[in-house]
Amino acid sequence: MNLTAAKTALKKYYGYDKFRPMQAEIVQAVYDKKDALVLMPTGGGKSICFQIPAITTEGVCIVISPLISLMKDQVESLRSNGISAAFLNSSLSASEQDSVREDLYNSNINLLYVSPETLLTQSFMQILQVAKINLFAIDEAHCISSWGHDFRKEYTQLQLLKKQFPGIPVIALTATADKITRRDIVDQLGLENPEIFISSFDRPNLSLTVKPGLKRMDQILEFVKKRPNQAGIVYCLSRKNTEQVARKLAAKGISTAFYHAGMSSQDRSRVQEDFLNDNTLVVCATVAFGMGIDKSNVRWVIHYSMPKNLEGYYQEIGRAGRDGSKSDTLLFYSFRDVIVLREILTNNQSENEDIQLSKLDRMMEYADALICRRKILLNYFSENLTENCGNCDICKNPPKSFDGTVIAQKALSAIYRMNERVGMNLLIDVLRGSRRQEIVQRGYDKIKTYGAGGDITSSDWQTLLRQMINLGLIDIAYDQGNVLKLTEGAKEVLFEKRQIQLVKMEEIQSQREERKTKVKKTTRGSRQRVRDALFETLRQLRKKIAQQKGIPPYIVFSDASLEEMAAMKPTTEHDMLAISGVGDHKMKQYGNIFMGTIRSFILTNSQAGQKIKGSTQLETIQLYNRGFSTDQIALERGLSEQTIESHLVNAYKNGEDIKIKRLLKKSEIEMVIEALNIVPEPAGLKSIFEFCDGKISYFKVKLALAWIEMNGR
Ligand code: ADP
Ligand code: ZN
Repeated sequence: MNLTAAKTALKKYYGYDKFRPMQAEIVQAVYDKKDALVLMPTGGGKSICFQIPAITTEGVCIVISPLISLMKDQVESLRSNGISAAFLNSSLSASEQDSVREDLYNSNINLLYVSPETLLTQSFMQILQVAKINLFAIDEAHCISSWGHDFRKEYTQLQLLKKQFPGIPVIALTATADKITRRDIVDQLGLENPEIFISSFDRPNLSLTVKPGLKRMDQILEFVKKRPNQAGIVYCLSRKNTEQVARKLAAKGISTAFYHAGMSSQDRSRVQEDFLNDNTLVVCATVAFGMGIDKSNVRWVIHYSMPKNLEGYYQEIGRAGRDGSKSDTLLFYSFRDVIVLREILTNNQSENEDIQLSKLDRMMEYADALICRRKILLNYFSENLTENCGNCDICKNPPKSFDGTVIAQKALSAIYRMNERVGMNLLIDVLRGSRRQEIVQRGYDKIKTYGAGGDITSSDWQTLLRQMINLGLIDIAYDQGNVLKLTEGAKEVLFEKRQIQLVKMEEIQSQREERKTKVKKTTRGSRQRVRDALFETLRQLRKKIAQQKGIPPYIVFSDASLEEMAAMKPTTEHDMLAISGVGDHKMKQYGNIFMGTIRSFILTNSQAGQKIKGSTQLETIQLYNRGFSTDQIALERGLSEQTIESHLVNAYKNGEDIKIKRLLKKSEIEMVIEALNIVPEPAGLKSIFEFCDGKISYFKVKLALAWIEMNGR
């Protein structure tokens, strides 16, 4: 097998022009009947790696997946692309299961999703022995390893596959596996000389922002309001917190639900369904939410509190932007979060407490970072990013350092004068001259530096103090209620004239940057995409169709496809098929209705005096289809007849439905065909025209040529 068939299938079924990095190599490995281990981030495009071989090779691919809730979705999504697929698990009735088995037996399906439990039943194994299998794909392969973070016992029995079906390739796929887990997967499955594919974990379409956790609710509201109609998740630490945040958002008229493990399973699946179907826009959830979610158009993720480690953080923000379109992530960070997490970790007294705590430190370093955040993240996952990413808050607003000696002295001296007995918040309040009771009672309003930092906001003070901690001037006594202690370095600043450089976030500049980045170009590929009024119209249409069909909107078309339609405004089949994500099947199902909507959008808006690409040609076509002749249209539109004619020729060439018979007789086409047979190659327009003795116009010759190109001689 070679890759030509694979590429053709990619375009025909999925509407994609090219493979993403590694996909082609993986497909080739499967064609070569090799075993493979694939490590790709969520949203990286793992499914294509086994689906393309499955549909381009004879037989069926058996996909083993632990997430029953996802199977239905995946199968629906395949079917929506015209691929025959089915799933088999305990959620189906006995008769439904029988009919799937029958399809499998008769080789009527290309892909069959099964749970490991179902796979391992004796009756199913028997059917497999007679079915024609082209590939086993093991999704979420890390579940096989007790080293991984989501061990499932049934998975360990999958080693049977290689033994019972020795000639059939096995491809194991996962988004999370460190080195030990990887080795474990290969060993346990008994993969033979597997090819190992580890793709970059970079997700350049996700913007990364960290903000001080002050007035979080206000910040969240502002964030959500700036993103109308965009789906997002707010991750919270506690169940109570999810409910509180959801209530506050709902009170402001934002369509919101909450989700946590304390709810009944019915309530949880209802929330999930509503979110998938774009009925609920925002879900405030604990980290329990997301595992079984394939929704590709989550546009943003907020962390209300800091996660315990970077693995969790990366997985959670990874739920945004799976379709590759621009998506935003925002992490709130306050020192209190760290303290709470520390307490949770220490109180749990788990064996590997030290590891957990050092992971928390890495998380904190990330939040505190003054260099490109993506560099830190990818470094953490053993990947080296050498250039700044340009899509994180640090890159967009590079910190400028300034002489912070006096500021440091104020803070350190205050700590000193309060006998190293206060924590960060109290210190800030003293520096800012707060009159809260505790301060007055303890006499802190009498110390020399009381109110000395009133010109700096609390959030800036937090940033500055954290830098002092990172610079080694201040220590946190975790064992003494988290009070701040002075180090040797602090003494140098206080008593030995040591100079300190600090960094201040320039608020004004960052606001300006934000305005600039409103230009909605995405980083993946060079395709143009926009979110404008047309996008919104198309989104509504998608929602309506999805509701009628009872499927999630992103299965109709992804956000990325709609954004591209909004930018390119395809009104012909040819242009529509050029949109990424529009394959043959979707073209047939939805092409006309989407093109119709785009057309009327263009017309309405061009009448309002705006010039829109393609609008002038469309007006011509509309008039023509209403029965006007070319000279009438020219008169009506104040354009030359030649222009009108070229509109019609171009539109016809682009596959636009134009009643060509009104313009061209059969005999005229025949005359041009005859000319083509006689006039030497390459037959220029002029020589054909002359061959016909000027009996038919240049316009007709052009039309006839277009007709011949499409229909043959
Ligand atoms: P994963 O399983 O790795 O999380 P998916 O297979 O669900 O990721 O793919 C994520 C998204 O990327 C899907 O919407 C998918 O259709 C899209 N995608 C995958 N491969 C390509 C490609 N070659 N070109 C464009 N989009 C792609
Ligand atoms: Zn960056």
